Amino acid sequence: MAHVLTLIETTPAGAAGDSAGELLAAASRLGTPVAVAAVAPGGGEPLVAGLASLGAQHIHLAESEHVGRLVGAAELEALAVAAAALEPAAILVPHSVLGREVAGRLAARLGAGLAIDAVDVRGEDRRTVATHSVFGGAYTVESTVEGGLPVITLRQGSVEDRAPAVDAPTVTREAIPADPGRFGTITAIREPSAASSRPPLRGAEKVVSGGRGLGSKEEFVLVEQLADALGAALGASRAAVDAGYVDQSAQVGQTGVTVSPKLYVALGISGAIQHRAGMQTAKTIVAINKDPDAPIFEVADFGVVGDVFTVVPQLMESLKEVAR
Ligand code: FAD
Repeated sequence: MAHVLTLIETTPAGAAGDSAGELLAAASRLGTPVAVAAVAPGGGEPLVAGLASLGAQHIHLAESEHVGRLVGAAELEALAVAAAALEPAAILVPHSVLGREVAGRLAARLGAGLAIDAVDVRGEDRRTVATHSVFGGAYTVESTVEGGLPVITLRQGSVEDRAPAVDAPTVTREAIPADPGRFGTITAIREPSAASSRPPLRGAEKVVSGGRGLGSKEEFVLVEQLADALGAALGASRAAVDAGYVDQSAQVGQTGVTVSPKLYVALGISGAIQHRAGMQTAKTIVAINKDPDAPIFEVADFGVVGDVFTVVPQLMESLKEVAR
C-alpha cells in the first residue's frame, strides 16, 4: 500500500497535538499511515508510544534546530524530506494556523495540488477524494488532484473513527537541513492560561453556544451552566461576543472558530450564514429559539421553539434526573 504522510503538530511540551488521531485515521483509509513530526535534536522519543497507539505504522522524527523558533520551517522541511524518501500517495495536514502555513508552502515546493479545509477523505480509483463543506455549509463538494500529489488540510473534529493501534511501528530519525529561508520568527511561547476546566472549543466533541438571545453577560451564565452539565466546550455567536457577553475566543463561525463536534447546541442564536459556516458540519445540532422561523432550524436535527430561560433549566433538570 502507498504511504500517506500526516503532519503531527506538537505542543510546546513535546506531546502530539489533538489532531494527530484523526489525521492518522484518515490516512489509514488511504494507505499506510506515516506520522511525520519535527522535533528538537535528540527529542521526540515520548511521541512514539502515543503515535503508535493512534495507528502510525511509521514514525518519522525530523530533527531541526528551528523547532519552536521559526513558524513552520522545521515542519515544512520534515514533510518535504519524507515525501522525497517515501513518494506518498497523499499528505494530510491539520487545518490549523501552522498546518495551513506549511501546506501552502509544501504544495508550492513539491509542485503538488492543494485541497484545503477538507471534512472527509476517501480513496477512489487510486485517487484521493477530499470532501469540503463550502458557502457556509450550504454545499458539500468534492475535490481531487489530477495527475499529481494531493496536499490536504483536514478540518479538526471532522473524522470520528480512529485507526487501530500499532504494536511496533518503525521509527526513523533524521536531521534536516539548516537553511530555513524566510519564515516568521517565534519570539516567545505562552501556554494560554486555562480560564476554566471546560474542554477547548477547537476539536471539542460537544459544544454549547449562546447568542444575542441571552440578552446580557449575566444571563449568558445559563449557556455556561448547560455546557458544564454536558461536559461541553463554550461557544458563542459574534453578536454575543460583540455585546460583551463572552470572550472573543468563544466565537464560532466564519470569522471565529470552525467546529465539527458530535453535538452542537445553539441557544438564542438566529443561525446567520456566517455562524452556520462554523458549525454546520456538526453531527447533531440542537437549537432552542423562540422564533419558529429562525434560520437555525433549517440545519437543526432537533429544534425547540421556546424561551431559553424556560427550556434550558428544564433540560438541566432532566439531565440531572438521567444522571441519578
Ligand atoms: P441575532 O441574529 O440577533 O439572533 C438572536 C436570536 O435569539 C433570534 O433568533 C431570537 O429569536 C432569539 N432569541 C431572543 N431571545 C430569545 C429567548 N429568550 N429564547 C430563545 N431565543 C431567543 N456571526 C457569527 O456568529 N460568527 C461569525 O464568525 C460571524 N462572522 C461574520 C462575518 C461577517 C463578514 C459578517 C458581516 C457577519 C458575521 N457574523 C458572524 C454576524 C452574523 O451575520 C450575525 O449577525 C450573528 O451571527 C447573529 O448572532 P445571533 O444569532 O446571536 O443574534
